[in-house]
Amino acid sequence: MSQPLPQLRPAVAALPSYIAGRRSSSDNTAPLASNESHFAPLPAVLAAITQTGNRANRYPDMFSSELTQRVAEWLGVGPDQLAFGPGSVGVLAQLIGALCDPGDEVIFAWRSFEAYPILTNLAGAVPVTVPLTADERHDLPAMLAAIGDRTKVVLLCSPNNPTGTSIGEAELIDFLNQVPAGVLVVLDEAYREFGPADALNPVTLLSRYPNLCLLRTFSKAYGLAGLRVGYAVAQPELADGLRKTQVPFSVSAVAEAAAVAALSSLDEVARRSAEVVAERERVIAAARELGWTVPDSAANFFWLRADDAHRTALVEAFDAAEILVRGYPVDGVRITIADPASNDRVLAVLAAHPELRP
Ligand SMILES: *Cc1c(COP(=O)(O)O)cnc(C)c1O
Repeated sequence: MSQPLPQLRPAVAALPSYIAGRRSSSDNTAPLASNESHFAPLPAVLAAITQTGNRANRYPDMFSSELTQRVAEWLGVGPDQLAFGPGSVGVLAQLIGALCDPGDEVIFAWRSFEAYPILTNLAGAVPVTVPLTADERHDLPAMLAAIGDRTKVVLLCSPNNPTGTSIGEAELIDFLNQVPAGVLVVLDEAYREFGPADALNPVTLLSRYPNLCLLRTFSKAYGLAGLRVGYAVAQPELADGLRKTQVPFSVSAVAEAAAVAALSSLDEVARRSAEVVAERERVIAAARELGWTVPDSAANFFWLRADDAHRTALVEAFDAAEILVRGYPVDGVRITIADPASNDRVLAVLAAHPELRP
């Protein structure tokens, strides 16, 4: 009698597989499926990578001390309020694992970031999804109403991936005022650099709302998606818990040095982000002019809601034009904003297919 082979935990076996943004297959392919920066790495980043490479035989600094110091000064928070990890997705995994026992609930909007249900289920916690409003925004009153005895975490994604909509200052504060103190509110700000410059900086809310935690990343506006570094800004107790749950050495020395270098080039980062924002506004206005319904976006992508039939045909039309976009079953298509020529190719597809307008 053969013995049974090792079995995955049911929670793991049942996980949806992460659908990675597809890779480009030729030089002519426009890779607009993953919200990456289309700019080449910053010169200072490339120099830092080269310089750090010759220490690859050594373990990195476990807690990214230099980066911690720099980010603390930049944001005006204590170093003890920061915890770094391999991308903000990595930090979020630590966070859910650190707060949730099996059966505890994590509330998030849907549709929102693909990683939320995966990380929640992986931790043995229970995802509680709250549908977006008709105008593709978080329904904060409904999210508040969904909070129960087992709720440990509420995830807010602003701007929301994939719809691009953001949560307003007044509604965020109103929400925070009503969430029970024992429930952690995580504000995922992966795209904050593409929002309005005069937007509220939620760092200023941390002292007033000890149950607030911000998640930020170097992957998008700073162009370090391939190096994996993100962080949480929170109360010292929570940040300490996140440092304890980090997979040891999961932020490499190269990633840390690259992030430090990016912080030395903030003017250039801002200039690049502004270029993306200008292109986003141009593309959305042109798409609307063509008759497409597009919600306002505060991120480096825009959203076309579409049922399955329209979505499938739309993704095929983009494929035929060698443009990789991200289709979501049931909900629609997300398209990353890139250089003007790629964006023009996107608009040409939209102009050529009025029959695919939902
Ligand atoms: C891209 C993205 C992140 C950042 O992921 P990293 O792990 O830091 O690369 C986090 N949240 C959302 C909503 C994103 O779209």
